[in-house]
Amino acid sequence: MDRFAAYVDLDAVRSNVGELCRRARDASVMAVVKADGYGHGMAPSARAALDGGASWLGVAFLEEALALRAADITAPVLAWLLAPGEDLAPALVADIDVSISALWALDAVVDAAEGTGRAARVHLKADTGLGRAGAGDDDWPTLVEAAAKQESEGTVEVVGIWSHLAHADAPGHPTIGRQQTRFEEAVERAAGAGLHPQLRHLANSAATLVLPETHYDLVRPGVAVYGLSPGPDVGPARSLGLRPAMTLQARVALVKTVAAGQGVSYGHRYTTTANTSLALVPLGYADGIPRHATNVGPVQISGRRFTISGTVCMDQFVVDVGDTSVAVGDEVILFGPGDDGAPTADEWAAAVGTINYEIVTRIGPRVPRIYSGERQ
Ligand SMILES: *Cc1c(COP(=O)(O)O)cnc(C)c1O
Repeated sequence: MDRFAAYVDLDAVRSNVGELCRRARDASVMAVVKADGYGHGMAPSARAALDGGASWLGVAFLEEALALRAADITAPVLAWLLAPGEDLAPALVADIDVSISALWALDAVVDAAEGTGRAARVHLKADTGLGRAGAGDDDWPTLVEAAAKQESEGTVEVVGIWSHLAHADAPGHPTIGRQQTRFEEAVERAAGAGLHPQLRHLANSAATLVLPETHYDLVRPGVAVYGLSPGPDVGPARSLGLRPAMTLQARVALVKTVAAGQGVSYGHRYTTTANTSLALVPLGYADGIPRHATNVGPVQISGRRFTISGTVCMDQFVVDVGDTSVAVGDEVILFGPGDDGAPTADEWAAAVGTINYEIVTRIGPRVPRIYSGERQ
């Protein structure tokens, strides 16, 4: 590492997926690798997840699915967020499954299938209460009838019926059972229209870990693949058998002594209270360090804990290290698995008022990803 790097432990990804497979029991595991593998790097994460026992990959967009194919990954892939006007043909030719939430999307996929001369593999999505993607109760009957008609004509193959939970990270929440009931009704309604897909899927990481009744045929964990807990009510990563895969590190770029009363960084939102040393860390909000981490972001420098001092800038921030001896080139850990008392993405999330998902996913393209545990 020169200036900074995000170290990604692919052995941790493999072992996290192994744990998710154990918890999924008879259900297959689709590792969700959207958003560049939650910031960890999509293709290396996908390969490690498949190695660890996942048999499917899940992404949001068609481009992400095509990037997996371009990396010679041949496992089944589902892409679930279509927007009007997208060219579906390359995805169908590349054997990518697509999610359909509305008639317009079914029409688009049928057009593409007719153009390519092969049936499109689709997963019909029902909104069972999340209130986001998926066909609502009013539209579901029409959608399943239309899909059944297309299946009988050979333009589509309905591989799955699926939905997504609103409160899986709050075990015991009353919406979970309600969503499950609506999901089963949606499956029955599709069966009534003549659709008998092999895959029903509903569970994200939290549900995979703690709601076995929601597993059905396939589970779709994302954040847990990378070793992060889906939420405080689900439990800390370690108690779930997960290990955070990403460690974000930098090297101190400048150290200087200043007097008491020195304002630090833009707006002087921090002022030294004694003669002290300031260490400059060359990472900023352009790299995904939240500006909200001003005066609250935790770091470890040469084994000791500190807090960011003053405003996080685009490319850098400052840490008042007091009378600790810190030198240029010393290692700064922003977050990682929490070994030796170093901060975690969970702590960062709590400090800046967000979720660990956002902390890792927002790490920017200037930060190189350095992999350990890569095979072959
Ligand atoms: C992102 C996503 C997942 C994975 O969610 P996690 O909470 O990270 O496990 C699963 N399904 C859908 C539809 C998603 O958008």
